[in-house]
Amino acid sequence: GGKGGGTRVITLMPGDGIGPEISMAVLQVLEAAKVPLIFEPVDVTPVMDKHGRQTVPKEVIDSMNRTKVGLKGPLMTPVGTGFRSLNLTLRQLFNLYANVRPCRNLPGVETVYGDVDIVTIRENTEGEYSGIEHTLVNGVVQSIKLITRNASLRVAEYAFQFALEMKRKKVTAVGEENAMRMSDGLFLRCVKEMSEKYKKKLDAAGIVFEFSTMTTVCLNIVQDPKRYDVLVLPNLYGDIISDTCAGLIGGLGLTPSGNIGTEGAIFESVHGTAPDIAGKDLANPTALLLSTCMLLHYVGMPDQAEKIKESILTTLTEGSVRTKDLGGNAKCSEYTQALIKNLK
Ligand code: ATP
Ligand code: MG
Repeated sequence: GGKGGGTRVITLMPGDGIGPEISMAVLQVLEAAKVPLIFEPVDVTPVMDKHGRQTVPKEVIDSMNRTKVGLKGPLMTPVGTGFRSLNLTLRQLFNLYANVRPCRNLPGVETVYGDVDIVTIRENTEGEYSGIEHTLVNGVVQSIKLITRNASLRVAEYAFQFALEMKRKKVTAVGEENAMRMSDGLFLRCVKEMSEKYKKKLDAAGIVFEFSTMTTVCLNIVQDPKRYDVLVLPNLYGDIISDTCAGLIGGLGLTPSGNIGTEGAIFESVHGTAPDIAGKDLANPTALLLSTCMLLHYVGMPDQAEKIKESILTTLTEGSVRTKDLGGNAKCSEYTQALIKNLK
């Protein structure tokens, strides 16, 4: 995390589609809340590197190297050959090793379950998504699931630090050790090892640590999601469970996320560019605003984060000013004004 006090400069990547609108809404709320952040806007439109591959402009890299912390709107995925997803590029450039997604029910969003409050912490750099695949002989391919001690330990450490800082009650490490003794076995052993390093602090905070298998989590999470709190998982399992959790609370539209790296972090909404409503002042800025709250915690401004979160909860609970995706008819700008009015 960062240090508290003083003004902090943040790299802002407004993104495409509804990105600029929801970024503007976030900036207005932060300004009204007198949050001491200064945003440095950069354009992430891809450029060609010297190998003819698309990459992010140097301006983005320079800014991130200076500020270490970014806030990012959704990016258009360019179609065509020789393209690498910009999200993947950013992840690799800044070594963003942990993907964090809090999924909590919000008032006014009808879902099957109430009271879901789960945070998935997903290893973001290796596992099944290492991208190491090859053909052995015609008709036979092999894909490598890479698990390293280093990456497993650091994501585990982040999970325990997160649980402590956010005052959570339980951390569940997930893997299929019986089926994948070496790979998932190593991952789970590393989480266990890290839990021992944090044991005193976890005990003092009343945080329980447990293991589970992926299949058990899948079964339980749709029967009784309340039994989970913080989940720490290898890449593929984490990808699946984090989307499952987003579904439990009503979809991707309200879900914030953080990508935590060795050198810094990038926070972003999980939804896409929503081209169908872009430029019409109809977008819901809540996911990006909640991502900003995660950012505020990360840079050591938890009170500011809670203040903004409270205004979101108040506004949604009152219910008279809601955007279209939540069944209301407020414009993005009207909802933003309501948030500002509800700042304590
Ligand atoms: P992309 O190609 O960028 O992934 P997409 O259309 O595949 O875009 P989303 O952008 O996630 O996926 O949009 C899915 C649906 O959810 C669309 O109807 C969109 O309007 C809606 N949506 C997504 N984000 C928001 C938001 N912040 N506010 C309101 N509606 C949203
Ligand atoms: Mg999409």
